[in-house]
Amino acid sequence: MALINENYLKLQAGYLFPEIGRRVREFAAANPDKKIIRMGIGDVTRPLVPSVVKAFHEGVEEMGSAATFKGYGPEQGYEFLREAIAKNDYQARGIDISADDIFVSDGSKCDTGNIQEIFGHDNKIAICDPVYPVYADTTVMSGKTGVCQPNGYFEGIIYMPCTEANGFIPELPDERPDLIFLCFPNNPTGTVATKEELQKWVDYARANNSIILYDAAYEAFIVDPEIPHSIYEIEGAKDVAIEFRSFSKTAGFTGTRCAFTVVPSEVKAFDRNGNALPVKPLWMRRQTTKFNGVSYPVQKAAAAIYTEQGKKEVKEVIEYYLENARIMRESLSAAGYTVYGGENAPYVWVKTNGYASWDFFDKLLTEANVVGTPGSGFGPAGEGYFRFSAFADRENVLEAMERIKKLS
Ligand SMILES: *Cc1c(COP(=O)(O)O)cnc(C)c1O
Repeated sequence: MALINENYLKLQAGYLFPEIGRRVREFAAANPDKKIIRMGIGDVTRPLVPSVVKAFHEGVEEMGSAATFKGYGPEQGYEFLREAIAKNDYQARGIDISADDIFVSDGSKCDTGNIQEIFGHDNKIAICDPVYPVYADTTVMSGKTGVCQPNGYFEGIIYMPCTEANGFIPELPDERPDLIFLCFPNNPTGTVATKEELQKWVDYARANNSIILYDAAYEAFIVDPEIPHSIYEIEGAKDVAIEFRSFSKTAGFTGTRCAFTVVPSEVKAFDRNGNALPVKPLWMRRQTTKFNGVSYPVQKAAAAIYTEQGKKEVKEVIEYYLENARIMRESLSAAGYTVYGGENAPYVWVKTNGYASWDFFDKLLTEANVVGTPGSGFGPAGEGYFRFSAFADRENVLEAMERIKKLS
């Protein structure tokens, strides 16, 4: 008899985005004349930049010629890409990370989920509330939790509420976690963490033999020079942190698929006898066994982001989205809403003025024909908030803001 992994049954049936899709489809079917503006799902809208497209094409041509054809690539990723990443994203910022520490993958979603495999089953996981749902859901799938309680929290996870009162930056938990997921700039709140705040976490991880799993998917949106782009800008982090980065939001790769994870040799976890062992060989083993790399043309396209021209083109796209975010912040504030984020991040986090998140979603959909994301979908502490995504076309942003202004 084939038994299922019952941990999957603990997950709530309606994942956030399918539920949004369902409500929007229903409304659209009943109101075919209404022009709906979608600012809900955090997916990019601008095309790949010319430098990336050119390199992508060249990669395909190479694959089509006997002299330059490539089969399986190096499992950790091609050296040309790992070198470009190490040099531009780290060494240029004075961070001592080498190409050897970098593992190229097909996405940070997969990596943040898969990373738990190399850690013991008894580890306690700390997760922010609200946050990107993947950390909690994959923890549940792995069997490390009990059921979901009436308050929306899974038994066995240490939740760290991020609220208006703490500026959406988690406080150190009372219970000691083994693995700590942090995400800055944050999805969904759009908040960033200062050096001092991150130093507090690194010091805590060092004192408690914990490991920080740092998701920096939105680092490219940081414009404030005081805000760190990498956890490794923090003293001591190289011993206790794994960092996840993705080209998805940085360079419009959500449909192209390329990301990377940084696992420094210094990061160690313990065996049953209390011996500290490096985790990098385990991640290497995991990837070489269960993953066969990202396609050559895609890695070649990703490397083009690091050329002079590529950097310039990508920066323009990021500035476009940040300008959207600025317009949204200003318009929503002027319309009487309290807004957070959107300055070093593509998300604006808005208080719903007394509405429950899903009620606000329905009101916005039916009265303004604008789609956003209910904050409660990211965790119980997101109730009463709403996420607007700056990944949209300018004219849609302007029209959506105009409609919301009339609404209030
Ligand atoms: C979009 C996003 C990612 C990127 O995932 P990919 O699988 O690389 O597309 C990672 N983390 C967060 C928080 C995100 O919002």
